[in-house]
Amino acid sequence: MIKTIAVVNQKGGVGKTTTAVNLTAALQDLGVKVLLCDFDPQANASSGLGVDKRKTKYSVYDVVINGVPAKDAVVATPYGHVLPSSADLAGAAVELIGAEHRERQLEQALAPVKEDYDVVLIDCPPSLELLTLNALAAADAILVPVQCEYFALEGLSDLMATLRMVKRRINPRLEIFAVALTMYDGRTNFCAQVAQEVRRHFPGKVFTTVIPRNIRLAEAPSHGVPATVYDRSSRGAAAYRAMAEEFKEKL
Ligand code: ADP
Ligand code: MG
Repeated sequence: MIKTIAVVNQKGGVGKTTTAVNLTAALQDLGVKVLLCDFDPQANASSGLGVDKRKTKYSVYDVVINGVPAKDAVVATPYGHVLPSSADLAGAAVELIGAEHRERQLEQALAPVKEDYDVVLIDCPPSLELLTLNALAAADAILVPVQCEYFALEGLSDLMATLRMVKRRINPRLEIFAVALTMYDGRTNFCAQVAQEVRRHFPGKVFTTVIPRNIRLAEAPSHGVPATVYDRSSRGAAAYRAMAEEFKEKL
């Protein structure tokens, strides 16, 4: 059974956080209980769902490094539950040097709360280092946002090599849940070509729904709400709702 899904791509700015935030909200609207674990020290997923870090006592850093129970750090927002991140998490990799099973800290921390949710989404940082390895150890599957641009596939070969290594050494159950095409510009031929190529490389894995380039998706985070709430009728919001339907079907 697939429950824990890491949203991963070592490239920054491809739409990981936007996808994690809006799928969380759209899935919750479909009656799916979601925990969004923000595992990027930039904490954009936390602020994107309106979690105010000045008002939260604990973050995922305290959970992973200081042994605070995950349930004490989870914040219930109107759009889904969030295990918020904080800038401290950037230092976690160094603090974990020498720890036993340092790539399994997140898996262990999430284990006690997993049963309370239908889906746990983990928003990964833009790297393939220890934080991401922790996310891949904790996950049953990965969701890979791919921006429709030149070299989109080139970057994916490193990710696939990491996936194979993790399957071999850390987490044999890890699989690809889905690939999400993001920032799609339907006016260009070239976007369609990239999409076609990605579909050829990942047969059956790419969501039929593509996420268009849409300014509402970029504006929503500064209001601390998902785009599905900020502007329900926007093309971006509609696309994430449609993607959430596909997501739910695949579970
Ligand atoms: P990542 O988490 O992979 O670094 P983000 O989700 O933070 O990527 O997206 C990078 C930037 O692009 C952000 O400013 C975000 O608001 C914007 N963005 C993401 N998806 C879209 C989209 N479909 N249309 C327009 N802007 C987008
Ligand atoms: Mg991000």
